[in-house]
Amino acid sequence: MAHGRRSDAPGRKTIFDPDASTHTALFVHTAALQAYHYPPDCPFKTERAQRTVELLQSMGLLDDADMVSAEAAPRDVIERFHLPAYLDMLRDAPNGDMGVEGLEMGLGTPETPVFGGMYEYAALACGATLAAVDAVTDGRARRTFNPSGGYHHAHPAKAGGFCYINDIALACDRLTEAGRRVLFLDIDVHHCDGVQDAFYDRSDVLVMSFHQTGKTLFPGTGFAGETGVGDGEGYTVNVPLPPGTYDEAYLRAFRALAPPIARAYDPDVIVFEVGMDCLSGDPLAGMTLTNNAYVDVVREVLGWGKPVAATGGGGYHQANTARGWALLWAELAERDTGESLAYGLGGVMLESTDWHGGLRDRAMAPSHPMRQAVDRVIRQTVDDVKANVFPVHGL
Ligand SMILES: [Zn+2]
Repeated sequence: MAHGRRSDAPGRKTIFDPDASTHTALFVHTAALQAYHYPPDCPFKTERAQRTVELLQSMGLLDDADMVSAEAAPRDVIERFHLPAYLDMLRDAPNGDMGVEGLEMGLGTPETPVFGGMYEYAALACGATLAAVDAVTDGRARRTFNPSGGYHHAHPAKAGGFCYINDIALACDRLTEAGRRVLFLDIDVHHCDGVQDAFYDRSDVLVMSFHQTGKTLFPGTGFAGETGVGDGEGYTVNVPLPPGTYDEAYLRAFRALAPPIARAYDPDVIVFEVGMDCLSGDPLAGMTLTNNAYVDVVREVLGWGKPVAATGGGGYHQANTARGWALLWAELAERDTGESLAYGLGGVMLESTDWHGGLRDRAMAPSHPMRQAVDRVIRQTVDDVKANVFPVHGL
């Protein structure tokens, strides 16, 4: 089926000469992001980004020359996705001007609390993701990483799941406006409902998400049968995975589905949300990955040879999240972390606080019954996804 396949469409820009990029990778971060904090009892910690920076710097894996700053996304840019009344509410709610309208916009819940500077923080984090995308499209870097990005649950007039301004939707929009074909790949443990809805009827942004099934986790969406509508039919790919999904099983599902679809779709650029909440020990989710699986996934994605703008996302065990993002950066920037040695010696314990120099988790072995139960579900899911979307892509 030629529907939506890459073609030399008029106006389509050929870009991204990898050899012309100044940097292999750039890390987008600004100290200004550290001025904002969700309420203390909220599991979402803005300081994960700074923690990742400090961990990388302590290992000599991140220099000033690797880093770019960012400005807050301007209001008119944010309005390309969000409604003005909602943005007014985000700005004014911390001053006590919320009312029923604010509740209807999803504000004031434990997952989307009202806090001072929430609009400013969300706009700045969004600006960082746009800067990450811009650095890739203007050829400054082949790959970028904004750990403070990935607010995939925000809707045009509704906050959700710690997300207020949908930087991913805005980043994909910016890319398509410039004629780029986008693959949004999301490996956060939660389904990207806000991004899916934004591009559900379009074929120029393929949204592919691997996540814990909505049967057991927020936001309760992202089932294999959600595949897009109209021109977008087959351009939404959901891979819901059972709680207890472990490294090998995850990688089996990922490798069966992501590479063929990505290669057939042939995007100009990949926007890549790398939430670290699939890690074992995450307090909000039930998957049991180690960060070794993340490294394998990242290597697979980089092997597709496309420019990548990566963001953070969830990740509610702070130390594990920072180590995972440090590994991600090392892969993007092709830096040697010395992990081959540390890992060969057994790595470190997941959730360990007595970390002594390795970023990798120790491999984990699930019980036989758990393995069987997970494998059975995943086999069926992979078959369902293939049946639903492979034909659209000529597979
Ligand atoms: Zn998440």
